[in-house]
Amino acid sequence: MEQKEEQMGLTVKKSDDFNEWYNQVVLKADMIDYSLVSGCIVFKPNSYAIWEKIQKAFNDKITKSGHKNCYFPMFIPESLLKKEAEHVEGFSPEVAWVTRAGDTELNEKLAIRPTSETIMYESYAKWIRSWRDLPLLLNQWNSVVRWEFKHAKPFLRTREFLWQEGHTAHSTKEEAEKEVMQQLFEYVDLIENYMAIPVIAGKKTDKEKFAGADYTTTVEAFMPDGKALQMGTSHMLGQNFAKVFGIKFLDKDEKEKFAWQTSWGLSTRTIGAIVMMHGDDKGLVIPPRLAPVQIIIVPIVFKENKEPIIAKAKEISKKLKARNYSVELDDRDGYTPGWKFNEWELKGVPLRIEIGPKDVASEQLVLVRRDTSEKQTIKINDLEKKVEQVLDEIQNSLLKKAKEYLKKSVIEAHNFNDFANAVKSKKMAKALFCGQSECETLIKDKAEGATCRCIPFEQKPAKGHCVQCGKEAKSWAVFGKGY
Ligand SMILES: [Zn+2]
Repeated sequence: MEQKEEQMGLTVKKSDDFNEWYNQVVLKADMIDYSLVSGCIVFKPNSYAIWEKIQKAFNDKITKSGHKNCYFPMFIPESLLKKEAEHVEGFSPEVAWVTRAGDTELNEKLAIRPTSETIMYESYAKWIRSWRDLPLLLNQWNSVVRWEFKHAKPFLRTREFLWQEGHTAHSTKEEAEKEVMQQLFEYVDLIENYMAIPVIAGKKTDKEKFAGADYTTTVEAFMPDGKALQMGTSHMLGQNFAKVFGIKFLDKDEKEKFAWQTSWGLSTRTIGAIVMMHGDDKGLVIPPRLAPVQIIIVPIVFKENKEPIIAKAKEISKKLKARNYSVELDDRDGYTPGWKFNEWELKGVPLRIEIGPKDVASEQLVLVRRDTSEKQTIKINDLEKKVEQVLDEIQNSLLKKAKEYLKKSVIEAHNFNDFANAVKSKKMAKALFCGQSECETLIKDKAEGATCRCIPFEQKPAKGHCVQCGKEAKSWAVFGKGY
């Protein structure tokens, strides 16, 4: 057993070797496994359950605003994918193709969806006839394939990943633009209030926008290893796809018009962000609102007094389950309480309940927070109230800590030297920017590959000159190395 214990824990510190720490956490917390398909991972129950909670939270939000879930084929005929030139150019290097079925070569090769705009909009063109058919508000939960050749990283860069993609059509530009922002701010809420990760919301530059969109809005987080991570994007597609696919409707004024469209997506890379942002040297720390197991009960038993303690632990478990918490009681024989503590800490369970013989006698128990290791003894009578309070505290304090980190990670740079130094010291640089793509390319070359993460919606007056080229600035922009 001792030997097993040794293998189970992490052997590196987060601050010493971040990459190795991350790889160990996702494997040892039993979130993923590798497969024979290079660049693809297995989502084991410990990570898939987080995704299911994200799905539930997001579905609740989008169904309230009238969106419906649907499912389209994962195969896209080549002719369809090629219809929108800019779009296909953006994706073609990473598209995986089906060319054969059994021994038969297919007449037309089929792309495995890298995203579903083309296959969906072919249908939208058939379904949308009149202003009465609008808005059309659909979402899919599926997986997409983008055959990257860069080194794979679980959740963050894999050839197949899971996501949701929302695709809407509207009768006016204003309505579509409102949708773009509404969905982006649903992401902000989901990421901040469930994942406990603060983000910077803003617009992508033309260089970084989605292939085929008029513009792209994004929510960007900043990871503890000094890299920005795009957490979700919402695109204004304008009428670009509508014109290519013929999505037209007869408006109230009897005129035929092209629909205005949006698409928006958030993927399982956000699970990687949760691991990176909150995890520590003991393993995962999962925010209570997304934790597959929120509370673990570990009875501290000795041979002679086992029964009353287990009975009490079961009673506590039942009470908490009645309040809809996901609770597990670890009454396995043959493991010491200390060994169990380590295992559940590694797996990131936010709250541990310990109950031993003295506790049973005095009708009390011990609560232990995963994030701070703080312990408190409470009366069993106060159980429900205290558990609710402590889980809220954990959720809030994870977000607070992450907010402080984000705040100190954005350096306002007033000259290029400061800008380059900020990037070099693993921060993001906020600077005045002219908005030109050529200038952005030069910045990337000169500052260790830093890209424009976004032009934040929150702007102060952009009076002055671009940090790189010295031309008149259009806005403040945030740059940094990214995933
Ligand atoms: Zn410039």
